Amino acid sequence: MLDYLIVGSGLAGISFAEIALKNNKSILLIDNKSQNSSRIAGGLYNPVILKRFSEVWKAEEQLILMNEFYDLLEAKLEKKFNFKLPILRKFFSIEEQNNWFVASDKKNLAPFLSTKLVAKKYNSIDSPYNYGEVLHTGYVDTALLLDAYRHYLVNNNLLVEEFFNSGLIEFFDFGIQYKNIQAKNIIFAEGFGLHKNPFFNYLPLDGTKGELFIVKAPDLDIDVIVNTSVFILPLGNDLFKVGATYNWQDKTDLPTEEGKQELLERIKEIITCDFEVMQHFAGVRPTVKDRRPLIGTHHERKSLHILNGLGTRGVMLGPAMAKALYDKIENGIPLDREIDIQRFHKRYLKTLISDRP
Ligand SMILES: Cc1cc2nc3c(=O)[nH]c(=O)nc-3n(C[C@H](O)[C@H](O)[C@H](O)COP(=O)(O)OP(=O)(O)OC[C@H]3O[C@@H](n4cnc5c(N)ncnc54)[C@H](O)[C@@H]3O)c2cc1C
Repeated sequence: MLDYLIVGSGLAGISFAEIALKNNKSILLIDNKSQNSSRIAGGLYNPVILKRFSEVWKAEEQLILMNEFYDLLEAKLEKKFNFKLPILRKFFSIEEQNNWFVASDKKNLAPFLSTKLVAKKYNSIDSPYNYGEVLHTGYVDTALLLDAYRHYLVNNNLLVEEFFNSGLIEFFDFGIQYKNIQAKNIIFAEGFGLHKNPFFNYLPLDGTKGELFIVKAPDLDIDVIVNTSVFILPLGNDLFKVGATYNWQDKTDLPTEEGKQELLERIKEIITCDFEVMQHFAGVRPTVKDRRPLIGTHHERKSLHILNGLGTRGVMLGPAMAKALYDKIENGIPLDREIDIQRFHKRYLKTLISDRP
């Protein structure tokens, strides 16, 4: 009998797996590689939403948990994947500079926005108005992390690589049975794959497609992440990750010509040197209309739980949301109302009514 059967081994699934293991719980993960959001993500973490100059929800708390989580995982997997790097916002005008200083004066943003302009000149970037530096930022190499974690799961017989069919779940007093697996709880961490889950697909998980590039640009010499309408992240060996686009209509994970053109245009707004596109990726972010995660327990089936809706910020949110769900299940600590799926209770009731013959 397992404590937790976890469906999905993206950032959400592995965040929950780790907190369960830390508490000596038994786990098994099931994944069929049907979603690739975590794998292809930019992996950036940044406590400030620069577009609107607002603080990421509970940013400070999330940063602490996130750093603890990735430090422990780096030690366990003996690999480095959390790279602390400044994010520099390139200014295009004096007005943008002024907006930065107004924002950095706000009490909640002051710890995250440096008040010193960065005047450093990088090859192949014109920056007459300089940059603003966001503090406590960096990126997680998510592909490296997921590969190392998969290796760990396989070596310990903790991973089944197949499609999880929710229709085959049988319910008992002790929990559930799925094929020959018995478990007290199931954690659904399926990302955009949630739409195939009949227990939770009433939830408003919209999905936002994103595309990004790996480019080669030998004449670009940045050692920081440069952010404007897209980010440029140095990977070493003249390679840079550039992204990402936002598309609310297309829900496939196929790279498109439209995405390619948009990224090419955006890059040319920032850098003046030649570059070559080496790889082009696309994936669907599990975004929710109200921009809050989807965490909680099924209204009737108390052994079914969900950890989803990490949206555009899975790197920072994953560890914090996994902890909140674990604390709710094991220690009875109520979830924050803003993330609890209870907020969609009326929607759930409506599906019950419309399902009646
Ligand atoms: C282009 C792009 C750029 C991004 N950039 C950033 C960024 O810079 N910083 C950041 O923090 N976030 C970023 N994100 C968002 C981030 O990737 C997501 O928040 C995060 O990956 C969500 O993780 P998840 O585990 O919930 O979902 P996923 O990564 O989608 O994982 C779900 C897993 O469940 C599995 N699965 C689903 N259904 C089933 C089933 N029925 N049976 C078996 N397995 C199943 C899938 O195979 C998959 O492995 C980006 C996303 C995209 C697309």
